Amino acid sequence: MRIVDVRERSVAISRYEDPALASGGLTTSVVALITDVIRDGKPVVGYGFASIGRFAQGGLIRERFAPRLLAAGEARLVDRAGTNLDPFRAWTVMMAGEKPGGHGERCVAVGTLDMALWDAAAKIAGVPLCRFLADRTGRQEVERPRVRVYAGGGYYYPADDIGRLSEEIRRLREAGYRNVKIKIGGGPLDQDRKRIEAAAQLLGGAEHLAVDAMNSYTSTSSLDAAAVLAPYGLRWFEDICDPLDFETQAAVASRYAGPIASGEALFSTVEAKLLDQHGGVRRDRDVLVFDPVHCYGLPGYLQIVELLASRGWPRSAFWPHGGHLFCLHVVAALGLGGAEVNPLCFQPFGGYGDEVTIADGTVQPPDVPGIGFERKPSLHAVFAALLDA
Ligand code: MG
Repeated sequence: MRIVDVRERSVAISRYEDPALASGGLTTSVVALITDVIRDGKPVVGYGFASIGRFAQGGLIRERFAPRLLAAGEARLVDRAGTNLDPFRAWTVMMAGEKPGGHGERCVAVGTLDMALWDAAAKIAGVPLCRFLADRTGRQEVERPRVRVYAGGGYYYPADDIGRLSEEIRRLREAGYRNVKIKIGGGPLDQDRKRIEAAAQLLGGAEHLAVDAMNSYTSTSSLDAAAVLAPYGLRWFEDICDPLDFETQAAVASRYAGPIASGEALFSTVEAKLLDQHGGVRRDRDVLVFDPVHCYGLPGYLQIVELLASRGWPRSAFWPHGGHLFCLHVVAALGLGGAEVNPLCFQPFGGYGDEVTIADGTVQPPDVPGIGFERKPSLHAVFAALLDA
């Protein structure tokens, strides 16, 4: 059992449903990992992408990490029974010779290929990824549990911001989402106050609204923002300042009683430990939004979950960044708090496809082998194009 080819491409990705709106030139990497395992007359192919928000990683994938997988013999890639790929062992192959620290964006490149490895392995096993991952991590009781979700979005619109934001929230409500996250910190606090009040009213209360400052506040503006936000009683206040400025975050946490969310731009267990030690985060209320793809893929993410759980964090505190099918399976398999969904933005990567429906604020991963990208036709077309190249 071998990986016979890895196809890779960088594609544009938009924060808006209308990709014509400027979105900072965001890109993501898509990969197809072709195995020599034949099912229904065709090779099993695992698909992955670089999640959302940190740009494509084509150079690192092409020059460094895919060649290591392709050069590895069967003995280094398969499980003990020799009947499937072992994504944990494949991860070790990818990380051979890598030094600790200096995560840069290699963590994203590794996570992209790691997603494809899990998709391929679950397909070879013939089960949904959540079931496969639960088996591999000793949580056999998991079948396809329902997962709590909230909708992410609410980026600033270049014109008629409040009107278009309100329309977006209305559509998310109609689609069945009760809880929504919007962006703040990109304009004056007065504008953000208007955004928050418009969204909270449409959602039936600020407890249904989280806000994400995208790490934009300084040591002083973060405290100014916290003072303005505190009276609203928001669901959470996310990505307050520079992700490594633990002193500022701790200062906010000491004055802001509501939940804060952090970890989206941290990528390793050591960074997670520093956040826990110095970031002022509180196990009884705060939220951890590490992205499983950006943290060197699932092996890295699992280490973070295990480390923080061993330090007293409940699994319910983890609400991974991402908003796509892969993270839905991860939350389901690991019994985490819930999942972000991007139903409108970051298409076709965001959201779950028409077959996955919301009931009572929860969804169930698709009941197909692997991650289920094949059930989201617009996204599957992007992956399938890699095979034509
Ligand atoms: Mg965020």
